[in-house]
Amino acid sequence: MCAVWCPFFCTRNRIETPPSRLYADRDFSSPETNTMADIFASGGCLCGAVTFTVAAPPTVMSQCCCTDCQHISGAGHLSIARFKRGDLEVSGQPKTHSMKADSGNAMTRYFCPDCGSRLFSETTGRPGIIGIVAGAFDDNSWFKPDMVIFKSSQPVWDITSCDVPGYETMPPPT
Ligand SMILES: [Zn+2]
Ligand SMILES: [Zn+2]
Repeated sequence: MCAVWCPFFCTRNRIETPPSRLYADRDFSSPETNTMADIFASGGCLCGAVTFTVAAPPTVMSQCCCTDCQHISGAGHLSIARFKRGDLEVSGQPKTHSMKADSGNAMTRYFCPDCGSRLFSETTGRPGIIGIVAGAFDDNSWFKPDMVIFKSSQPVWDITSCDVPGYETMPPPT
C-alpha cells in the first residue's frame, strides 16, 4: 500500500459499482458541530446547491496527471487536497459515481447533481480520508502541492509545479 494514493485513482479498469451498495448508509453530516472558529476553509459547487466546510488544514496536497483525472477535470491535471473525513461538513446532497480500482478498492467521487461540479472523492483503501478538489474552495490560495504524480501521463502542454517532487506514477511506498 502506497503511503500516498492518487485521490482520483488511476486505472482504466472501470467497474461500475452502484453507490447504494457501498454508501447507502452514508450520512454527510458531521458528528461534531463546527463553529465558525473551527473552520479552516469553505467551498461549494458552481451553482451553490452543495456547499461544505473543512475544520482543519489538509494533510497532503498533490497535482495528479493520470488520465482519469484528465477526464474528470477536462484539464491536464487535477489539484487535490486530502483531509480527514471527520473534518468535512457538507450542506446539500451530492451525487456519487463509484468504480473499482485495480487494487480492488472502490473509488467514489461526489459531484453536484445540478451543475456537475466535481467536489470530493474517497476510497475504501483509505477509510476516514477524503479528497477535495482545490478549485471547489471559495479561497484556494493556501493550496501548495507537495508532489506531482503520474507525470508519465502528463500532456506536453500541461504545466505543474516543478519545485516539488514529481513521480512517473505513484510515489514509492514509505
Ligand atoms: Zn451545483
Ligand atoms: Zn489521478
